[in-house]
Amino acid sequence: MKIAFAAGEVFPYAKTGGLGDVAGALPVELSKRGHEVKVFMPKYNTFGETEFGLRYNWDLGEIPVRVDGQIRPVHVHTATLPGSKVEIYFVDCPHYFHRFRVYTNDPDEDERFILFSKGIIEILQRLKWTPDIIHCNDWQTGLIPVLLKENYAWDKMFDKTATVLSIHNVAYQGIFPKNAFAKAEIKQEHFMPGGLGEFFGNINFLKTGILASDVINTVSETYKLELKTPEFGCGLEQFLVSRENDFYGILNGIDYDVWNPKTDRLIPHNYSPAGMGGKIKNKKYLAGRLNLPFDENVPLIGIISRLVDQKGFDLAAYGINQLMELNAQWVILGSGDEKYESLFYDLAKKYPSKVSTYLGYNNELSHLIEAGADIFLMPSRFEPCGLNQLYSLKYGTVPVVRKTGGLADTILDWNESLAAGSETGTGFSFNEYSSMNMADALKRALDAFKNKSVWNKIQKNGMKQNFSWGRSAEKYSDLYKKALLKRSGK
Ligand code: ADP
Repeated sequence: MKIAFAAGEVFPYAKTGGLGDVAGALPVELSKRGHEVKVFMPKYNTFGETEFGLRYNWDLGEIPVRVDGQIRPVHVHTATLPGSKVEIYFVDCPHYFHRFRVYTNDPDEDERFILFSKGIIEILQRLKWTPDIIHCNDWQTGLIPVLLKENYAWDKMFDKTATVLSIHNVAYQGIFPKNAFAKAEIKQEHFMPGGLGEFFGNINFLKTGILASDVINTVSETYKLELKTPEFGCGLEQFLVSRENDFYGILNGIDYDVWNPKTDRLIPHNYSPAGMGGKIKNKKYLAGRLNLPFDENVPLIGIISRLVDQKGFDLAAYGINQLMELNAQWVILGSGDEKYESLFYDLAKKYPSKVSTYLGYNNELSHLIEAGADIFLMPSRFEPCGLNQLYSLKYGTVPVVRKTGGLADTILDWNESLAAGSETGTGFSFNEYSSMNMADALKRALDAFKNKSVWNKIQKNGMKQNFSWGRSAEKYSDLYKKALLKRSGK
C-alpha cells in the first residue's frame, strides 16, 4: 500500500512527546512490511537543514498555498528517516514555521496547520503520487479528511484514498475561533450546530477529524474505552461513541534500536538480562552526575515527564511529606507547569542528598535515568499509551503506575500476579487516583526491592516483554485495510 503519514512532529527532527516517537518509528516498520510510505512534517526552524542532511526539492519548486485568502509560498525539503529508506517531506513556510517552537499559542496557530494540511495535499498532487491511505495524527492534521473529500474532491486522483486519524491525546484538540473554517475554505455548514467542526461556538480540528475520517484509532485498548466516557473524553466522547464501529485501539510500540540497555550508546555500562552487572554501575554513575550519595541498598526512583496535570504530580504534591519519609532517593527530569517545576526544584533544594531535579529536556539524561534508576514512577491521571513505562521494562527499572490507559494495558501488578498464582508481575500499580494509593504502591515496590531474588524476578519479567513496533505495525496494516473498505463503501 501507499501511505502518506502526516504529523506535526517526527523524531529525530522535532519531538514534544510520544507522537514524535511514533511518527519516527511506525513509518519505518510499515516500510519494512512492504508498504511505500512518505512522511510529512512542517520544517520548523528548531532544527537546521544541514543537521539532518535535508535536500531542497528543486522539482517541486515553489508551491502556492492559500490560507485566509493569502497565497503563501511553500517549499519542500526531503530526507530519509534514519536507518531506513522512508522519505520524509518537510513543508517549509517560514512565515508560519520559523517560530523557534514546534507548537505555539500564537493567534494564527490554526493557520499554521491549515497550511500544513493543504500543503501535504498540494505536494501529493505535484508528485502525482496517489496514496491509498493518508494517516493523520492528532488535531494538527485533523482537517485533512474533510479537505480531501470536499475541497479537493475535484481531483480524481484522491477518489479512492482513505483517511485514518490516530488520536494520541484527546486533551489537545485544536480549538479555534469560528473563522478558522473560512480561513481553510471549508464549507460554513460544517460550523453550524451539528456540523463536523462546531464545538461550543468554536471550531474543533480534532472533532472534525473524528467525524470526517474513514477510521479512527487511539494508542491503547483501555484508553479507547475510556475515551467514550465523559471522564476521559474531554467533550468528544459522544462523537467517538457515534463512530464506535470505526474506532480501534492499537498500542504503540517502542524502538528497541534506540531503547535497549544492551546497545544503548548514551549509557556508560551496557547490560542485559544475562548480565545485569552494568545496571548498578549505571546507578553509581548517575548518582555521581546528580550529586546524590550512592548507596546500592537505597532505591532510586526516577521520573521523566512533561510536568503537567495529566501526569499525576498533584498526587506527589499532596503527599510530599509522606513520600520524603520513604527510604529512597529521587531523580526528576521534566519541564512544564510552573507549579510542578517549583515543587520539584524546591524539593531538591530542601533534600539535596535525597532528591535531584533537572528542569528541561535532556535526551541523554533520560537514557541515563532509565538505566540507573531502580523504580520508575508514572502516576498519570490519564495516559493514552505511555512510552516511559515501556522503556523502563526494557531497562529493568520497575514501573510504579496508575492503572489507566496504556499503563493498565502494559504493566501487570506483582502482587496481583501472586494472588492469581503466578509470578509474572512486571511492576506495581494502583487504581483509584489518590496520594494514599500511590504511596501504597510505592511502599510495596520498596518492600519488594529489599528482597533481591524477588526484585530480580520482577526486573527480568519486564525485560522479557516485547513491545516492538513490529506487532503494532501489523495492526496498522489491518487498520488501513479496514479504512479502504470503508472508503469504497463496503
Ligand atoms: P507524552 O507524549 O504524554 O509526553 P509519553 O510517555 O507517551 O508521554 O512520551 C514522552 C516521551 O518524551 C518519552 O520518550 C520521554 O522519554 C520523553 N520525555 C518527556 N520529558 C522529557 C524530558 N524532560 N527530557 C527528555 N525526554 C523527555
